[in-house]
Amino acid sequence: MKILISNDDGYLAPGIVALYEALKDIAEVEVIAPEQNNSAKSNALTLHSPLSVTRASNGFRYVNGTPADCVHIALSGLLDYRPDLVVSGINNGANMGDDTIYSGTVGAAMEGFLFGIPAIAFSQVERDWHHLDAAARTVRELVQAMERQQLIGHTPFLLNVNIPNLPFEQIGSLKLCRLGRRHAAEKVIQQQNPRGETMYWIGAAGAVKDDADGTDFHATAQGFMSMTPLKVDLTDHDHLSYWAQTASRLIAKVPSGYP
Ligand code: MN
Repeated sequence: MKILISNDDGYLAPGIVALYEALKDIAEVEVIAPEQNNSAKSNALTLHSPLSVTRASNGFRYVNGTPADCVHIALSGLLDYRPDLVVSGINNGANMGDDTIYSGTVGAAMEGFLFGIPAIAFSQVERDWHHLDAAARTVRELVQAMERQQLIGHTPFLLNVNIPNLPFEQIGSLKLCRLGRRHAAEKVIQQQNPRGETMYWIGAAGAVKDDADGTDFHATAQGFMSMTPLKVDLTDHDHLSYWAQTASRLIAKVPSGYP
């Protein structure tokens, strides 16, 4: 089993080191991750500046780009083989509900999925790295179980997994979840810079709006691991027919051949 590891917190983050340590004995692993923290970069690709790949002393490779850049470069020329699995994380903080839209952790995994490779994004629910060893051990057991079930290396899938920050024995079983929802984000924070200009900090993510039974928020609050299968198609399938009728009333094109 060959596993490509990336993240969005940067190649020095404790989460990716723990992920590497957890997987290096059960697979051939390669770490290619951003040089800097790239949280909330989603699937961004760097198109207007060159990217360099540097080997760190611990063997990890880092890129002066985004999480998606790392996986994209790895799969489109850097690696001379095709990994069986792409794993991303372990992220410093939850990626639940709407977080998945912004998450660079999910973005790295999604890039693998877009290349046709099974991919999993892993996040710890809290941001303090508490019980990271337990999360990493959980990841290893999950990947091993998936390999035994012959899920790895065949049909691509994209899974989003959130792990509560608990001792290994207290982490609950894996619960399949839908994504919850958050309220809109907190207000932007305004500050004056030394030249008297107004600068803006993006505010915190919003509070939870939908944490009903069956959501990732609900499962992790109960101490379970949440697993949500994600898809890339953003089409609003439920409203296709509504919009088909509505769209026909919006712009009446003159038939071709009209004088
Ligand atoms: Mn992050």
